[in-house]
Amino acid sequence: MSQSFHLFQLQKIDTQLDQGAARVNEISAKIETDRRVQDQQQVVDNASKVLASAQAQLKKIEQDADTRRIKLEQCEASLYGGKVKIPKELQDLQNEAAAIKRSISTLEDQQLEAMISVEDAQAQLNVAQKHLAILQAEVTHENAVLAGESSALKALMDRLKVEHQAVLGQIDQNFYDEYERLRKNKRGIAVASLTDNACSACGTVLTPADRQAARSPTILFHCPSCGRFIYAG
Ligand SMILES: [Zn+2]
Repeated sequence: MSQSFHLFQLQKIDTQLDQGAARVNEISAKIETDRRVQDQQQVVDNASKVLASAQAQLKKIEQDADTRRIKLEQCEASLYGGKVKIPKELQDLQNEAAAIKRSISTLEDQQLEAMISVEDAQAQLNVAQKHLAILQAEVTHENAVLAGESSALKALMDRLKVEHQAVLGQIDQNFYDEYERLRKNKRGIAVASLTDNACSACGTVLTPADRQAARSPTILFHCPSCGRFIYAG
């Protein structure tokens, strides 16, 4: 087999290795940068804080109302206990009881609103938690599929590396050095094929004399335009 054939084989293997490595990197970047679960966890944490604050507000209102109910009982006990007999003092106690009742009534309205706020916050938290569970399941599944693809690619690449070594053994060192240099400078493609009388990499149409030279089993032909090796088959 000619050197151009072996170089072409090597190019096919190395192109597959390049594509495999690029996809493996893409997969790990995709898994690492996926913030969907963390973002939704943040939504859940925020909803929990809103709920805790609504519950604390409700509790405070309930405690205030309880304190005032005790105060009202004490006030009414004095009022109806028979110990206070002076009309002015009785009048003061009546006024005080009325004021406490009004403030209890206000607090009861606030309590109702606070209870609705707690229910709303609880509902929001439930929705957020449900969404989080769905996302976690989705992401776990997607990552398992990606990890499977990645390990299959790595296994393929291990086999390709063995093939690379085998083909390398068939290539003269000076051609391989040139191959590597071209790979570096020509975006990974050192060997082009002859397709429809043109270089498959840059599209330059070869003259009949060039095509004949490219088909020669003894010489290595370079594309006159891009400089890559040409494998004519
Ligand atoms: Zn070319």
